[in-house]
Amino acid sequence: MARAAKFKQRCVMCKQNMVLMYSRRQFPICVECHMKKIDKPVKDAKYKKLLDIPREFYLENLFLRNIKESYLRFDKLSEKQIEAFERTVKEMKEGPKDDEE
Ligand SMILES: [Zn+2]
Repeated sequence: MARAAKFKQRCVMCKQNMVLMYSRRQFPICVECHMKKIDKPVKDAKYKKLLDIPREFYLENLFLRNIKESYLRFDKLSEKQIEAFERTVKEMKEGPKDDEE
């Protein structure tokens, strides 16, 4: 799951912080700005339950932030996205396993 960052790019929102980039397709936004962007209330009960996870999880994990952002943009998520989100949260709750670098 832990991929090595390939390069760094300046955040397009604050134009200050450097962002670790994993691919050219990644949107260069720093954790701080990303958190501000996705820190919005979720109204739908089903998604509220899904997306209501500890803030640290979002801080730590770009994928989780992307999923929440995607929900906020489209007001829904695909089955695959929900599955992957739940799996990631479960893994994070269980803690790192054999995460040697
Ligand atoms: Zn930023």
